[in-house]
Amino acid sequence: MPSCKSISLISATVMYRQESNRCMPITPIKLEFCLNPSLLPWRLLMIAAELTAPGQLTVADVPAPILNTSDSVLVRVRAVGICGSDVHNYVHGGIGARKVVYPFIPGHEASGEVLAVGRAVKGMGQGTRVMIEPAMHCGHCDQCVDGHFNTCRRIQFLSSAGELQGCMCEQVVVPAHNCFRIPDSVSFEAAAFAEPLSIAIYSVQQSIPLSAETPVVILGAGPIGLSTLLAAKHAGAQRIYVTDRIPERLAMAATLGACWTGNPDKIDIVADILVKESLGIPVVFECCGQQDAIDQGIRLLKPRGKLVITGIPEGSRITMNIDLMRRNELNIYNVRRQNQCVEPAIEMISRGAIDVSPLITHRFSLAASRQAFDTVARYADGVVKAMVMC
Ligand SMILES: [Zn+2]
Ligand SMILES: [Zn+2]
Repeated sequence: MPSCKSISLISATVMYRQESNRCMPITPIKLEFCLNPSLLPWRLLMIAAELTAPGQLTVADVPAPILNTSDSVLVRVRAVGICGSDVHNYVHGGIGARKVVYPFIPGHEASGEVLAVGRAVKGMGQGTRVMIEPAMHCGHCDQCVDGHFNTCRRIQFLSSAGELQGCMCEQVVVPAHNCFRIPDSVSFEAAAFAEPLSIAIYSVQQSIPLSAETPVVILGAGPIGLSTLLAAKHAGAQRIYVTDRIPERLAMAATLGACWTGNPDKIDIVADILVKESLGIPVVFECCGQQDAIDQGIRLLKPRGKLVITGIPEGSRITMNIDLMRRNELNIYNVRRQNQCVEPAIEMISRGAIDVSPLITHRFSLAASRQAFDTVARYADGVVKAMVMC
């Protein structure tokens, strides 16, 4: 009988093979090979952070992924950012109705170096520095045909519960077209940050045309809120109001260009902002997933204003003041990650139009990834974006 360790190795191997090619059968010969871990050459193992239960993360040796499709690449991961969704999966074991199946590798904001490419891959090879776009769309459904790749009906997303394992490990195999080349001048951590920045760029695209005269409110100054500040500024906004409960985040928002910051625990942020903007706000970005913030956003908006919701609430339901929304003909727009904004994000970072480096406040080794998650989950030590350097 195989030992427990052998069984976990088999399941992990099957998992990886499913990730890289869902149609590829596991042959009995390969299973036999995996049954005895002592037969595994050392190079087939890698270190990975794995969620094992709500609130539990271990760093373990797992089988390295196998490059077994001609259009994929094997990437040596170098930097992975911790996203709010990763923290939801870590703390609560899922988001809304989506539950994590353990063990589960988190992380989808990743960059690294190509180690090997499939036969059909052109334009990149060993050593190419890449940012990994974590969303894999089918390309055939009605959403994909219409260009709405982020709402693809068969989307597979790295580190999304029920979909694909994540990148917080040494190596991943991903389709070549999910890898975007990054110039040498862009650090791995900045390239990894292109993923959350792409969401902010997309949020701003979905809002309204912004100019120096457009007042903008951003509720929540975490990585997405602060990225939205940078993206809104880049799009022309200058009167940007930012709220958060954490003083360090408000200080950073002010440094990055907010004209006003406020803490809803200390002041009536709606009243204070409306003193300065008596007609109300045409666009509010909700970037923290809190019921309070949704309520504040609806009260801040001017008639026909737009509430752009990017934050992820803890549960499946929130409430909204339909009376105010109806009377003021308010628009609510839910942002689902991003669509085709990764390349613009990399381009803005690489030409210096947007500097994400102040937002990367903490760095941890892969071995310390549990500490990284705890720091982010507790909003400790002024953390904005924590990077795990693999
Ligand atoms: Zn994310
Ligand atoms: Zn599709």
